[in-house]
Amino acid sequence: MTICNRCKKGFTIDITFGERRWDFCGNCYSFNVLDSGFIALIEFGGGDEMVVKAARISYGKELKGKEQDKKLINYMMRHNHGTPFEHSFFIFHVKAPIFVARQWFRHRIGSFNEISGRYVEYPEEFYIPQKLRVPHPQNKQASVEAEIEGEKELIQLYENSIKSSYESYKKLIQSGVAREIARAVLPLALYTQFYWTVNPRSLMNFINLRVSEDAQWEIRQYAERIVFFFKDKMPWTFSAFVQYGFNGKSDFMENLKKSEDL
Ligand SMILES: Cc1cc2nc3c(=O)[nH]c(=O)nc-3n(C[C@H](O)[C@H](O)[C@H](O)COP(=O)(O)OP(=O)(O)OC[C@H]3O[C@@H](n4cnc5c(N)ncnc54)[C@H](O)[C@@H]3O)c2cc1C
Repeated sequence: MTICNRCKKGFTIDITFGERRWDFCGNCYSFNVLDSGFIALIEFGGGDEMVVKAARISYGKELKGKEQDKKLINYMMRHNHGTPFEHSFFIFHVKAPIFVARQWFRHRIGSFNEISGRYVEYPEEFYIPQKLRVPHPQNKQASVEAEIEGEKELIQLYENSIKSSYESYKKLIQSGVAREIARAVLPLALYTQFYWTVNPRSLMNFINLRVSEDAQWEIRQYAERIVFFFKDKMPWTFSAFVQYGFNGKSDFMENLKKSEDL
């Protein structure tokens, strides 16, 4: 058992999802991610029935029972009728390294609010990878684990560089420099926090792009946990998405497709 990175109060429990085993906090409904990060689902509204109602408004109709409603969701997913999937919302609280947040913020269909380094002094919290990766031999966008000569020393070099930047940051602030200027010396490994509000249509686009093996390993760790929350809150839509909507390349998703009761 590990302590929850978010609420610090709760102890995480092992949760199995497809082929993954993750640290989950039942107290604040969050997963620990990377070394100090987390993703929590803090609000959700709507759901599968809202998708069905939005679709049937065209005919002035509502729900027709589980079997027919599920069928309708499958039909809409197969035929790319996206708008009925826009009437629910997920609000996530995320703590991630800045380089992950930068990739995340490229997803324009959704809303973000982030902690401000102008108003808050950053704590010494940085992402330190346990393993380094080398460029993928065939795929320019990807990287792979490999035996790297002197890896331990290289990770130490990475840590020393961060430590030195953080010391400079503290020194600048202690000398009276404004936080908004001092922060410019901090590296991309620094953890930031943000809220992300997103509808299921945009969430599925995010999953397609960020669970896929082309995406950087670190953001994939968050994206895969988002799939768990998605299934938990919208199981029919999740099922339709896994079967007809996911178009990325991912063993994790292939595994879910096989192992989950769709
Ligand atoms: C593996 C990978 C590598 C990447 N590499 C780079 C890179 O090297 N450089 C880089 O700059 N970015 C890169 N990106 C980011 C990528 O280009 C997208 O900005 C990001 O994935 C967000 O995708 P999106 O636009 O579909 O999402 P959103 O911004 O959430 O948009 C969702 C959908 O809304 C529609 N939409 C949104 N805005 C518009 C618009 N202005 N006009 C028309 N339709 C719109 C589109 O259909 C879009 O798919 C990369 C992404 C991935 C996954």
